[in-house]
Amino acid sequence: MNFGMSVLVRSGVGPLCALARAAIPSIWRGKYFSSGNEPAENNLVTPMLRHLMYKIKSTGPITVAEYMKEVLTNPVKGYYVHRDMLGEKGDFITSPEISQIFGELLGIWFISEWMATGKSTAFQLVELGPGRGTLMGDILRVFSQLGSVLKNCDISVHLVEVSQKLSEVQALTLTEEKVPLERNAESPVYMKGVTKSGIPISWYRDLHDVPKGHSFYLAHEFFDVLPVHKFQKTPQGWREVFIDIDPQVSDKLRFVLAPSATPAEIFIQHDETRDHIEVCPDAGVIVEELSWRIALTGGAALVADYGHDGTKTDTFRGFCGHKLHDVLIAPGTADLTADVDFSFLRRTAQGKVASLGPITQHTFLKNMGIDVRLKVLLDKSNEPSMKQQLLQGYDMLMNPKKMGERFNFFALLPHQRLQGGRDQMNACQSKPFASPVAGFSELAWQ
Ligand code: SAH
Repeated sequence: MNFGMSVLVRSGVGPLCALARAAIPSIWRGKYFSSGNEPAENNLVTPMLRHLMYKIKSTGPITVAEYMKEVLTNPVKGYYVHRDMLGEKGDFITSPEISQIFGELLGIWFISEWMATGKSTAFQLVELGPGRGTLMGDILRVFSQLGSVLKNCDISVHLVEVSQKLSEVQALTLTEEKVPLERNAESPVYMKGVTKSGIPISWYRDLHDVPKGHSFYLAHEFFDVLPVHKFQKTPQGWREVFIDIDPQVSDKLRFVLAPSATPAEIFIQHDETRDHIEVCPDAGVIVEELSWRIALTGGAALVADYGHDGTKTDTFRGFCGHKLHDVLIAPGTADLTADVDFSFLRRTAQGKVASLGPITQHTFLKNMGIDVRLKVLLDKSNEPSMKQQLLQGYDMLMNPKKMGERFNFFALLPHQRLQGGRDQMNACQSKPFASPVAGFSELAWQ
């Protein structure tokens, strides 16, 4: 399909892309219970470290999940709340910031699913953790370019974002300056406006607050920042990893093991064979919510993140200035992440909706026609530097040693979608026919 020819400049495509957070192998292995040997210098005593030390002194060691939650999303001092950490000048770079093609193909995926499920007269496009709004911008550009296909459909955009700073950046990227934003910090809908292409757009802090209409959901590099609990197998059984103040070194934190069982142990599978695991109850809550919404009102959810299918052990790590950063040093100055356990997402969705994947980003984007799209853009761009940028971006997204294999795509769909609902029956068929889901099968979008 030809959906417009524009080639956009992406500042993210350059030498720094080699340092995208997903492309860096985990080198944290084997450091489960030590934060490393870096000295705790005075300038590393951040306001967040002081806050955490005070908390630990008052109520005792905290779980890794509580640590992640405080460090990343504490409303006053949280890492995500007051800064734009994305891009070359920030701490990490993501696929939509690297290449416009990424968002364009995701836009096609949503249109493809909308068409395959009977072209509803209205839908909500909901994004969790939209960063700078770049991905949504690329998707909405495709929607505009395919305006003739979507012309009778009433679309609205809903962004779930906890960061004050990033919501401002998203508004700048996506909205029409001439229509002022409505703001109400106290309301669940804390900002409202109209996109450049005239679509109503609203901001929420929580998925629960998004209206429960027929929706397509997107979460790119969102699940990996949700707090995880870490457990170590010991001769006494599973023991949770906590964070405590190091008694030997002033102003330093360290990992310790809980002396007895803790409540989050309930998330560990009975037949678990690994000796160290990370569980993410918040991911379970969100997948539950997405699942019942999709089961009730149709639509689909597309999740893309780095992760594994229930096989990895210690993946908790920090990123600062495109470098790996000790997770316990200078908290609040670095991003903290853990790989997404897709097997847990699948188990959570089971029985409510169908799931597809995880499949690698390389396979998904190939199936979505990335090669054709790249060729169109290369043919249309006259400048050698632009061509080089497109090729570098393609390599970063697709190269198995870069983001191609570390990233995975995973989808939640109503059961009828895979069985073939009535709206997927054509006149010559006596039985419903389930058309393939784009991206997850080679017979994808033509
Ligand atoms: N999807 C974007 C940004 C990824 S960074 C991209 O791929 O470029 C993670 C995003 O999730 C940021 O926008 C951050 O502010 C947001 N975020 C982090 N924790 C969140 C939470 N608990 N609820 C909603 N948004 C959250």
